[in-house]
Amino acid sequence: MDGRKYVYMFTEGNAGMRNLLGGKGANLAEMTGLGLPVPRGFTVTTEACTKYYDDGKQIVPEIEEDIYLKLSNMENIVQKKFGDSNNPLLVSVRSGARVSMPGMMDTILNLGLNDTVVEGLAKLTNNERFAYDSYRRFIQMFSDVVMEIEKVKFEKILDAVKEENGAQYDTELNADNLKEVVKRYKELYKKEKGEEFPQDPRIQLMEAVKAVFRSWDNPRAIVYRRLNDIPGNWGTAVNVQEMVYGNMGNDSGTGVAFTRNPSTGERKLYGEFLMNAQGEDVVAGIRTPQSIEQLKDIMPDVYNEFVKVAGILENHFKDMQDMEFTIEKAKLFMLQTRNGKRTAQAALKVAVDLVAEGMINNEEALLKVDPKQLDQLLHPNFEPIALKAAKPVAKGLPASPGAATGKVYFYAEDTVNAVKNGVKDVILVRLETSPEDIEGMHVSKGILTGRGGMTSHAAVVARGMGTCCVAGCSEIKINEEEKYFIDKNGRKYVEGDYISLDGSTGNVYGERIPTVETTMSGDFAKLMGWADQVRKLKVRANADTPTDARTAIKFGAEGIGLCRTEHMFFEPDRIEPMREMIVAKTVEQRRKALDKLLPMQRSDFEGLFTEMKGYPVTIRLLDPPLHEFVPKEDEDIKALAADMGIEFSELKSMIEDLHEFNPMMGHRGCRLAVTYPEMAEMQTRAIIEAAINVNKGGMHVIPEIMIPLVGEVKELKFVKDIVVKTADEVIKNSGAELKYMVGTMIEIPRAALTADDIATEAEFFSFGTNDLTQMTYGFSRDDAGKFLDEYYNKKIFESDPFAKLDQTGVGKLVKMSVELGRKTRPDIKLGICGEHGGEPSSVEFCHTVGLNYVSCSPFRVPISRLAAAQAVVKEKKA
Ligand code: PEP
Ligand code: MG
Repeated sequence: MDGRKYVYMFTEGNAGMRNLLGGKGANLAEMTGLGLPVPRGFTVTTEACTKYYDDGKQIVPEIEEDIYLKLSNMENIVQKKFGDSNNPLLVSVRSGARVSMPGMMDTILNLGLNDTVVEGLAKLTNNERFAYDSYRRFIQMFSDVVMEIEKVKFEKILDAVKEENGAQYDTELNADNLKEVVKRYKELYKKEKGEEFPQDPRIQLMEAVKAVFRSWDNPRAIVYRRLNDIPGNWGTAVNVQEMVYGNMGNDSGTGVAFTRNPSTGERKLYGEFLMNAQGEDVVAGIRTPQSIEQLKDIMPDVYNEFVKVAGILENHFKDMQDMEFTIEKAKLFMLQTRNGKRTAQAALKVAVDLVAEGMINNEEALLKVDPKQLDQLLHPNFEPIALKAAKPVAKGLPASPGAATGKVYFYAEDTVNAVKNGVKDVILVRLETSPEDIEGMHVSKGILTGRGGMTSHAAVVARGMGTCCVAGCSEIKINEEEKYFIDKNGRKYVEGDYISLDGSTGNVYGERIPTVETTMSGDFAKLMGWADQVRKLKVRANADTPTDARTAIKFGAEGIGLCRTEHMFFEPDRIEPMREMIVAKTVEQRRKALDKLLPMQRSDFEGLFTEMKGYPVTIRLLDPPLHEFVPKEDEDIKALAADMGIEFSELKSMIEDLHEFNPMMGHRGCRLAVTYPEMAEMQTRAIIEAAINVNKGGMHVIPEIMIPLVGEVKELKFVKDIVVKTADEVIKNSGAELKYMVGTMIEIPRAALTADDIATEAEFFSFGTNDLTQMTYGFSRDDAGKFLDEYYNKKIFESDPFAKLDQTGVGKLVKMSVELGRKTRPDIKLGICGEHGGEPSSVEFCHTVGLNYVSCSPFRVPISRLAAAQAVVKEKKA
């Protein structure tokens, strides 16, 4: 063997060994060390789980022997014997990863029972009913969890026996009834598996351990890991623990409790229990559990002891605890404690309260809130009772959080008209959205698309706007032309029908569910204040409009890291001159169209600068391929041709000429300015004039002009020269003074590879990690969603690289650019404006490689502020 220790008695571990023993095992060991009443046991390590997979899904004999050795240690301590019918030791077998994972295998209780041991147990306890109750539970759990026989099949048998005997609750079944249940369970097992229910307890144990290991890789667990950033190579531990019995009669019971309220954070014991029951009964909801306070009346001594233990545990772990306990014949046993899961609101309250109570300091408090959870607080939510009563009619991707309810419309212009006509809440339903839909998306409370992934146009734009979005909902069938969709139950929804969207779960509801707004104050504001004192990264927002800018400021943004100017050209008064510009045949015609756009652009930028009150604003020159701006339908092309005084056929062929096979790698970004320098001139003029104008009013704006999609320093220099020449001329003619900066995006691998050259021209870099990820992997950011699921299933990817930065590959390019850029230009300003700027683990990476700021959608600003602060605290701790 490799000299490693794969099995630990609870007495050999402690809370610091969480990585090896899993959360449950480490805390059981810690509680044992604290002298609390914990049943004896041992933990098979997470490394044994990884080894199980490495060894081709088998437990090697050495580890098996070690498990049996620890089992016999246990036997000696508790003076009982595994498989001995005179004095049997029964155990529970439970999974326990480093962090708790609800999607995984749960628990097997009463393991060690067989046809003879059950008889012995009955004699020993003088309680035949209890013995057979335990046996039927064990057969069901083992069959379900280990052998994967559906639970309902067992439940049906139990229900039948209850009915035959006129019993409403399990507790009303007597020993003979339960014997009958056991008999039928075993028959079912034989029918399903073609063999007898295993009678050898050692085989039962080893099969159970293997089942726990297997559960690490079940589809639910894989999905859960991806959603929660849990690496696949962590593995799960297995805890084997002496059984204590909550089903021994009316002086026994079992329950769960939190030291504080997990919904609100209120400091008050919160939980429930059931008398004469085992663990699963509490959650199964067959009998209604009693509130923990009622235990005070039923068993005051046990209650008082539990309150004391809860206090010790919270003080010890310095966090709200979620505990499981069992009472066996009026004696309390602790089966588990862990830091309790809680809502965002509770997380904030608990963190702030623990500081006030002197239990932790500000920096420790920052680590107690999951930045991603803050999303829950930044968007409207459904009214909880109404939500509970509603049933989803389809599910798509949770693309942009929040809740929305409103009337459906199938075209962007229809939503705009509806709002103009006084409809308050509209929801835009499209197969997929395109930049043309931007106005309609703006006025909508929610967006639902039938196609596209988490970085599809709809998802990115909706997140930017803070609008709830469910994307890629293939469960509904959309007919845009005839303006209806059909949900998964076959119900048809036409224009004006109400639906509701939950952008945090991806659920679609076929009805109206009221929503409630949230604000950033109280504990939230306090914790964010602490984060701001600690973090080194600045946090900016990606914002294109004064409204976005206002939201960004409200959430604490310290500048705009990306203004995508293309979004300014879709409004009706702009799209026309824009189209004229695109199809212009001569420079003169193009300039004429651009002249119409100039005043509008200038006022856009004045609006942005004004909202941003002197904070830095990075404005990117036009980036998308031009075909996105031209009409597609013949009818619209005809209208445009008439406006422009040219033939329909001529315009149509000009538009067809714009078609590209690979538009994302086509005529876009700085390539547009290389072909049409007049466009860069107009945008520069608008930016500089706007800055001069607002500075006259006492502001101190230093605009940052950003040139997109650069891969070669000479193309950057070409465009930069146009920008500088135009800007200097405008400044000179105005007689004012103005500082401005010119920089670029690093979003093409070649730019990263030659960042030292690029930095000779660029005063700042902003990492466009959306394109950089797309181009580094060679995955289309719009289509990758179609096959990434298979990558997760086949364990090639653990997470979506468009959401969570691939630190190994794309991150290497970022790091390299940082180093090369700083070598050429030590004071170069470095930031990120891809979607990753609002994802906590990516923000931590940005801190580590030494960026100056991250920029994210306005609604993610608080998330990034907290993540940036956590990065500092974690770094200090390490
Ligand atoms: C990027 O590519 O990361 C970026 C921010 O630009 P866009 O998403 O507009 O292409
Ligand atoms: Mg880009």
